[in-house]
Amino acid sequence: MVVVMRSSANDTDVDKVVKAIKDVGGDAFVSRGKHQTIIGLVGDLTHFAELPLHAYPGVEDVIRVSRPYKLVSNDAHPRPSTVWVGDVPIGRETVTLIAGPCAVETEEQTAEACRMAREAGATILRGGAYKPRTSPYAFQGLGEAGLDILNGVSHDLGMPFVTEVVTPADVDAVAARADMLQIGARNMQNFQLLKEVGMAGKPVLLKRGLTATIDEWIMAAEYVAHTGNLQIVLCERGIRTYEPMTRNTLDVSAVPVAQSLTHLPVIIDPSHSGGKRELVLPLTRAAIAVGADGLIIDVHPRPELALVDGPQALIREDLLTLRDILLRFTDAAGRQLAAPTEDRRVGAWGRSASG
Ligand code: PEP
Ligand code: MN
Repeated sequence: MVVVMRSSANDTDVDKVVKAIKDVGGDAFVSRGKHQTIIGLVGDLTHFAELPLHAYPGVEDVIRVSRPYKLVSNDAHPRPSTVWVGDVPIGRETVTLIAGPCAVETEEQTAEACRMAREAGATILRGGAYKPRTSPYAFQGLGEAGLDILNGVSHDLGMPFVTEVVTPADVDAVAARADMLQIGARNMQNFQLLKEVGMAGKPVLLKRGLTATIDEWIMAAEYVAHTGNLQIVLCERGIRTYEPMTRNTLDVSAVPVAQSLTHLPVIIDPSHSGGKRELVLPLTRAAIAVGADGLIIDVHPRPELALVDGPQALIREDLLTLRDILLRFTDAAGRQLAAPTEDRRVGAWGRSASG
């Protein structure tokens, strides 16, 4: 960090700042210019976090020059991580398809949607049992009954599944059944939920908040990591902009930016970004082209009857095209479509489990 003093600051002001820094165990280097003095801070950033340097007399600005996150930063962990969901990798050498219904409605609908997902090339299933809805009158999900349905379908198909948890009270019930826990966009800064989900010890899918900056999103991941759980996958799902033609605006730049700052895998949700079926396949191509480590996609056997997000669900007719895009674009990107692997320590792609 660098403290920039006002041109009117005197020696006493500078000395007070230096003393405050030293009092918390840091070191301060003063550089006196003709018009302004700047003070460089050296030491563990956490020491300075609580120091109200902005409030000191004569201080004009406090500028952070290093990143506020440590555990998820690639400074500390330069090799990209691979997160394992059951026996399926999500990492930099593969493209992993997660797919299934937006919401679990019935056992038949869930089983059918999950079979469609598998046909398209998915190796991880998705489905919502607890739905965070904008309206309290909208379908809120089947809760535990929905978890049981997902659990049954996942066992029948031999595929792991991810599902959202919306409140700390449900973390244990969800973690007891699911292979990966999802934090939805609306809960990205629900810090208590981030901590509880982290402590459940399962891999975490962390969606970007609708209005979150990339730094805020990564700081949310740091909350999970702070519990000791580094099995985190970031998911860009579109952000709110002034553009009403799409449900959200897919921020494709977020993928290379987040990958350049963290060692975590970054995937894209083309369904919740565009909000329209006809946009899902084009955005899938964009996702793989920009280097996403995976995709999470809604499918539904009869979207016209769907209780949630029917307009964006892929239908049976889309599956072959989706599979074809996955295979061809993944190959062009120099990656492989992720498949389950027997040996999680040295997988088919020769990576170690923690990257
Ligand atoms: C979802 O994946 O079902 C969902 C609600 O997504 P988001 O949190 O991105 O809106
Ligand atoms: Mn949805």
